[in-house]
Amino acid sequence: MTIEEIRAAAAELETASAEDILRWAADRFAPRLTFATSLGIEDCIVTDLIARAGLPIQLFTLDTGLLFPESYALWKQIEDRYRISITAVTPQFTVAEQGEREGEALWEREPDRCCDLRKLEPLRRTLAGYDAWITAIRRDQTPERANAPVVGWDSRFGLVKINPLARWTSPEVRAYVSEHHVPYNPLHDSNYPSIGCTPCTSPVMPGEDPRSGRWRGKEKTECGLHLRIPVRSEN
Ligand code: SF4
Repeated sequence: MTIEEIRAAAAELETASAEDILRWAADRFAPRLTFATSLGIEDCIVTDLIARAGLPIQLFTLDTGLLFPESYALWKQIEDRYRISITAVTPQFTVAEQGEREGEALWEREPDRCCDLRKLEPLRRTLAGYDAWITAIRRDQTPERANAPVVGWDSRFGLVKINPLARWTSPEVRAYVSEHHVPYNPLHDSNYPSIGCTPCTSPVMPGEDPRSGRWRGKEKTECGLHLRIPVRSEN
């Protein structure tokens, strides 16, 4: 797609339902289309929408080797419920190998490098095989995501990025999950609104920012997957 075509699609789909956005994406890009699920509650909704509609969209998740046991259990639960496969995309090195090469607990000393090795490099390697990817980010999650378009050009990874839940709010997420009995991580109900790797995720107390439990005590707020989101009207 040209930038003009992407802009036109973003404008046309801005008020479309998430299901219609996913149908458009599948029509336009499958089989060179993938959904990167992080197994968060929003990701569970996108998975539910894809499965209900029977869309030919491949799913993968970044398995850093450091996910919560509840996340691994949810992964299996989703595959069983929807009879789908979520491909594990893994880093070049295991956690133990990374410890030998970089020193133990790299996430405590250099979390950006740790995310580079365990998330960004595997993601870059995977997305190289596609023309478009889907994420479950919402605009109200972080300032970096506030301008996320429904369809945009992802200059960081060099392909089209589709965010079908961009306009959704947290209450809408909870309502959908409840109405459709979507399986989700039980940690979300135990003060973990945002769930990543175990060393970098802590519970969030009432009144705190929902993402304050990620990399607590550090300036880091994103793993780097969604840092450079094109502005709606520009891309
Ligand atoms: S979230 Fe933490 S443990 Fe996971 S890859 Fe990033 S720095 Fe490493």
